Amino acid sequence: MVVEHHVCNANSGNITAMLKLANFINGRYCAPVNNQYIDNIEPATGLVYEHIPSSDSADLELAVAAAENALPAWRNMPLDQRADILLKIAQGIENNLTELATAEAIDNGKPIGLATTIDIPRAASNFKFFAHACSQFSSEAHNMAGSAINYTLRQPIGIVGCISPWNLPLYLFTWKIAPALAAGNCVIAKPSEVTPKTAYLLGKICQQAGLPNGVLNILHGTGAGIGSVICDHPKVKAISFTGGTKTGAAIASQVAGQFKKLSLELGGKNPALIFADCNLNDTIDEIFRASFANQGQICLCASRLYIERSIYDKFKTALVSKAQALIPQDPLLKNTQMGAIVSIDHLSKIKHYIEQAKLAGGAVLCGGEQVQLEGRCAQGYFLQPTIIEGLSNDAVCNQEEIFGPVITLQPFDNDEQALTLANDSSYGLAATVWTNNLTRAHHFAEQLQTGIVWINCWLLRDLRTPFGGMKHSGVGREGGMEAMRFFTETKNVCIKY
Ligand code: NDP
Repeated sequence: MVVEHHVCNANSGNITAMLKLANFINGRYCAPVNNQYIDNIEPATGLVYEHIPSSDSADLELAVAAAENALPAWRNMPLDQRADILLKIAQGIENNLTELATAEAIDNGKPIGLATTIDIPRAASNFKFFAHACSQFSSEAHNMAGSAINYTLRQPIGIVGCISPWNLPLYLFTWKIAPALAAGNCVIAKPSEVTPKTAYLLGKICQQAGLPNGVLNILHGTGAGIGSVICDHPKVKAISFTGGTKTGAAIASQVAGQFKKLSLELGGKNPALIFADCNLNDTIDEIFRASFANQGQICLCASRLYIERSIYDKFKTALVSKAQALIPQDPLLKNTQMGAIVSIDHLSKIKHYIEQAKLAGGAVLCGGEQVQLEGRCAQGYFLQPTIIEGLSNDAVCNQEEIFGPVITLQPFDNDEQALTLANDSSYGLAATVWTNNLTRAHHFAEQLQTGIVWINCWLLRDLRTPFGGMKHSGVGREGGMEAMRFFTETKNVCIKY
């Protein structure tokens, strides 16, 4: 895929030699009105490799005008035509798998194998799924015997804002955009400034798929510079946000007075409950993946492991030995299992948590140190997978989200204690339970205070299911028809016979 980098207002400053990304507004790439750019750094090398627009309200006004103009035709387009375009976007993503996966690995530091097999295929699946969902989306009718009938309309909201984080860049960006478009809305979307590249490339794919101009507008820049401006705009009627809990809280209070529809998918501190009757070898493998996939930077990663005391030592020894064999490498190598941490700031934050764990009396069983690679990755942000034990449940590292390759282990003696420890958290996104006892599995599924419970598996996803968290992990649910309902306004019509 070749993207032409139109930069309408390009200046001839000191960054012209490097590639500048552009916003995607009204079906074309254009420079930010203020002509300001931010560095984009490759985490594996620590080097600036391109620049992205530092957009502001002037760019947003252009995007809103384009979306307003496009809205009537898009919302009234017959469903099969709308679905067709979404399917073509999915196809475009599949056709450009290699380029997109490479871009994601460079931008984020994730292993290219992961981007090729998980991130980018899932982005295509998101569009496919919601292309089909819009043709299956229906509403209810309520008959009042002998007097009237009610029917419910679910209409597009209008212009909606979609704001996504850096950890699964295209995967989560499209998880919002696809249902928003499928429901007949026009979208103004902002990817994380840390990982803008695949969102940028998506513009061209949408253009080639025949998405009408102005239906999807992609603005780049910082949370403060453009994210909060999107949230604030009176013509942006709903915000779908995925990111940190603090940012979610800031957005919620910012938009409260405007009564916008708000979907918040926030942080997690996910417990894994490992019972002595689990299938030990399978559980070790899956827990290992749940702990360290994507360098532990998945909101659903297990970070607090509670292990029944009778298998604690055996489990710990096996997990530590696997972690010691997991060596961070250049994300662009095909066999890499662990890549780079996304940014220097995030690396510092994770290292700070490891120091806090030590100060609180925690024992670092493996890892804990930054890794210096050779060659092109000599300045990159690599960290050893880290396992810590000996912390109390109220220690900072058991209560706050670290969002990196750091897990803690604690033994438990009985079911009641395990449940209490797992629920002792302000977060409530996901939990995993590892047991062959069906009664126990059902009991924990019912009692755990999380939006998602996986029994004997992790990250096994069916896109029809509700997705999201409770407590400080979010408000509302994405996925399946939940997303279609979020992106539509409900109206009841009552007709007297
Ligand atoms: P942030 O909250 O820092 O940022 C998320 C997005 O919001 C980014 O695009 C960011 O822009 C933007 N943003 C920041 N401030 C504002 C603001 N005031 N108004 C509007 N937009 C803003 O999260 P991270 O990118 O650091 O992502 C990691 C977090 O995301 C973790 O807490 C993780 O648990 C959570 N997450 C939750 C998931 C879920 O489904 N529950 C899934 C994946 C991640 P910029 O990057 O430019 O600052």
